[in-house]
Amino acid sequence: MEMKVYNSLTRQVEPLTPLADDTIRLYTCGPTVYNFAHIGNFRAYTFEDILRRVVQFNGMKVKQVMNLTDVDDKTIRGANAAGVALTDYTKTYKDAFFADLRKLNIQPAEIYPAATDHIPEMIALVEKLVEKGVAYKSDDGSVYFAVTKFPGYGKLAHIDFDHQRTGARCAADEYDKENVGDFALWKAWEESDGPVGWDSPWGRGRPGWHIECSAMSMKYLGETFDLHTGGIDNLFPHHENEIAQAEAATGKPFVNTWMHCAHLRVNGEKMSKSLGNFFTLRDLLEKGWSGREIRYVLINAHYRQGLNFAFSALEDARKSLERIDRCVDALSGKVGQLDGRDTEKGEVPEWAAKALEDFTAAVNDDLNIPRAFAALFELVRHANAALASQPPNLSPSQLRGILGVFFRMDEVLGVIFFGKAEKTDVPAEVQALLDQRAEARKAKNWAESDRLRDAIAAAGWAVKDSKDGQAVTRR
Ligand code: AMP
Ligand code: ZN
Repeated sequence: MEMKVYNSLTRQVEPLTPLADDTIRLYTCGPTVYNFAHIGNFRAYTFEDILRRVVQFNGMKVKQVMNLTDVDDKTIRGANAAGVALTDYTKTYKDAFFADLRKLNIQPAEIYPAATDHIPEMIALVEKLVEKGVAYKSDDGSVYFAVTKFPGYGKLAHIDFDHQRTGARCAADEYDKENVGDFALWKAWEESDGPVGWDSPWGRGRPGWHIECSAMSMKYLGETFDLHTGGIDNLFPHHENEIAQAEAATGKPFVNTWMHCAHLRVNGEKMSKSLGNFFTLRDLLEKGWSGREIRYVLINAHYRQGLNFAFSALEDARKSLERIDRCVDALSGKVGQLDGRDTEKGEVPEWAAKALEDFTAAVNDDLNIPRAFAALFELVRHANAALASQPPNLSPSQLRGILGVFFRMDEVLGVIFFGKAEKTDVPAEVQALLDQRAEARKAKNWAESDRLRDAIAAAGWAVKDSKDGQAVTRR
């Protein structure tokens, strides 16, 4: 079965097939690390996580690059207001971002390039655009892209800009279609930038936001690659500008498929920092919701449909997960398996095979996760009925086969066996702490054992003791 997705560039649902090596090369616009990411941002990141998981579910490989915007108007303002160096200021939020990704069981990207580590690449790209005559230096030492010089400008946003070209300039990173104009590739240093700035052929300054993504995506994924995503607010001007910069420089098509997720809203408005109507992941964890429940809510709506945030959705998620857990625990209790990893070789009853088939069709139909959940609940319903039948009519092989279907579905959803990590998933440094703790317990050194439990907790893992030894789960 072929995986199909909606391409914002062509406005059609199309097959997603790799350009080379069975690998989908994917660029996802990452966070601006000036604050804790809010759960609206995580709607975009969970959508991208589902996307990469479905690609892998279909037997293809993924090479994902997610940038970290660690220099822009907002990060500079934040660092200067706090009176700390830009790198120290952004480090706090980079670390928090990675911790949050783990809490939501989001698979890590292959590469997380930071903008400040790629200034030479950005300068080189701007130089190329100046050489080609599509970019020019302004009097203050900034460099602008001349949108009139790139005939394809507007093709992603599906807007014909021909009649509104005015030669006006836009220095801000974000702006509306109404004030389209030449956009900044390089921004000359200003008083408010304080100590932040790099030397360039045009004098001291810093890169614009858009050039960052063109330079880093092409560095790691090539001049033409498969897939580029972001929230719908990134489509214009950010992605439109990325296309203009890349294609004007290389003369080649930049990206085959563009995908955008709709916004997470609160009372009908986009959840955003500037509107002040946001929750961070931490806010919700503090209120007693788990990363697993939050993930469930974020993924259980079609990514192209607006999702209104409400606490009642978290309550529903909790109930749905309990229903799944009861069923999976009953199945695994009978065969003594913690999760479904080793169970795929079991015999799969017809109704379970049908559920998997429906699930596969749903995820391959432009990531239809709500329909995929419906297939999962059909599986739960049938399994519960089979478990309740008297006399019992599921063989050990069938129990394993059914668990294997849950496991296969969870390769995409990442909510069923959440936290039931195998030993192999535990990072080496946590494993080292676990080994030390096992030693301490053998020596009946309980104080040391408790200290190590806290150290393991600080690293994001929870340890429980049982007669079989230590069991560790993600916190
Ligand atoms: P930013 O840190 O603002 O550059 O945003 C990072 C990512 O989150 C981008 O892909 C945005 O499009 C996305 N994003 C921001 N707000 C929302 C929201 N309310 N719902 C969904 N995605 C969002
Ligand atoms: Zn970007």
